[in-house]
Amino acid sequence: MQKTLCIIKPDAVKKNVQGSIIQMILDNGFKISAMKLIQLSEEQAKKFYEVHKERPFYGELVNFMISGPVIPIALEKDNAVADWRKLIGATDPAEADAGTIRKLFANSKSENAVHGSDSEENGIIETNFFFKPEEFVK
Ligand code: GDP
Repeated sequence: MQKTLCIIKPDAVKKNVQGSIIQMILDNGFKISAMKLIQLSEEQAKKFYEVHKERPFYGELVNFMISGPVIPIALEKDNAVADWRKLIGATDPAEADAGTIRKLFANSKSENAVHGSDSEENGIIETNFFFKPEEFVK
């Protein structure tokens, strides 16, 4: 099965919609193989979003991601990467399809409720960023 990383971002945790998001994950056939509630350090957030370091919003993105607790979740499913991105919807909730997580719960293009890996390779790299091998259940 393919792996992908979900992060329930600080805006969604602050709004107390993490339960609804986890229910949508389960209702859509994803297996949760690892999950935790953590406060990211600035160093961790910078490292996780390193690919965006030349983008004008990098500083804002890092500050947002450390503004409160987040919930990284390793998801598994056939076609997990594409199916998770479909369920979360477009980066900007204004452009996201009806019924997607971002349409339902995101505040804006920056405070957009959840993260999703963008490739199979990044699904593995990103789940391993948050979880040690022994933290994944079979
Ligand atoms: P994603 O793959 O849909 O998450 O989108 P991207 O990889 O393009 O961007 C990564 C994250 O950066 C997004 O999920 C947003 O949280 C944030 N982001 C994207 N565009 C902007 C922007 O224009 N301004 C700010 N502040 N944040 C943004």
